[in-house]
Amino acid sequence: MSAITIAVDGPAASGKSTVGQKVAEALGYLYFDTGVMYRAVAWAALERGIPIEDEGRVTELAYAMDIGIEPPEVDDGRQNTVLADGIDITWKIREPEVNRAVSPVSAYAGVRVALMAQQREIGAQGGVVMVGRDIGTVVLPEAELKVYLDASLEERALRRHREATQRGATSTLEEQIEAIRRRDEIDSSREVAPLLQADDAYYLDTTDLDIEQVVQRILDQVPADAHNGDDGCC
Ligand code: C5P
Repeated sequence: MSAITIAVDGPAASGKSTVGQKVAEALGYLYFDTGVMYRAVAWAALERGIPIEDEGRVTELAYAMDIGIEPPEVDDGRQNTVLADGIDITWKIREPEVNRAVSPVSAYAGVRVALMAQQREIGAQGGVVMVGRDIGTVVLPEAELKVYLDASLEERALRRHREATQRGATSTLEEQIEAIRRRDEIDSSREVAPLLQADDAYYLDTTDLDIEQVVQRILDQVPADAHNGDDGCC
């Protein structure tokens, strides 16, 4: 078996995390969601009262923070447990204030440099599905398979709205549409590592596809010998 590296990029709520995790499970690979790292920095800045516009202090924070991503030890729908200096912030980083702060924070070049080293280290091991905005273009440009997931703004907002409602949040669909539109705009127009489809990425519009169909189409792109455990060894 020769494990490959899979980069999955796309706009907010395009299905990257759900699909990425299922693809990783099917292949016996590690799943790594880079978005949680940017969310952790945004959460910590808000928590410490650091103004989001203060690029210097936010960048210092990104270097100083210890962000831990561990397997889920609580069965509450989480994909991973996210720790900031030992504190469980898994659900805190999904709050609307963090949604608002995360794109400005991740537009800072220094913040990206601080977080990218860890991402590259994980990618270098192979056998990983890494999801984000700039994985195929900047973090792991050598990834053997690059996927760009897309869906209409309305469909993406609806998906987030359903998830938020399930968790007991009270935001409206219109608020979700606006929040996602704003985040996409900042992520796509920033100077450093903007959201972009890599030239050699496999583009998939998921608007009218269900999760299993998307997962299958991605798995169809993976060489047969790249499935973990295929050769019965190790
Ligand atoms: O994927 P998710 O929506 O959780 O990402 C949150 C935010 O983190 C994105 O809107 C984007 O601003 C930032 N991000 C990024 N680069 C990545 C992953 C996420 O800039 N590789």
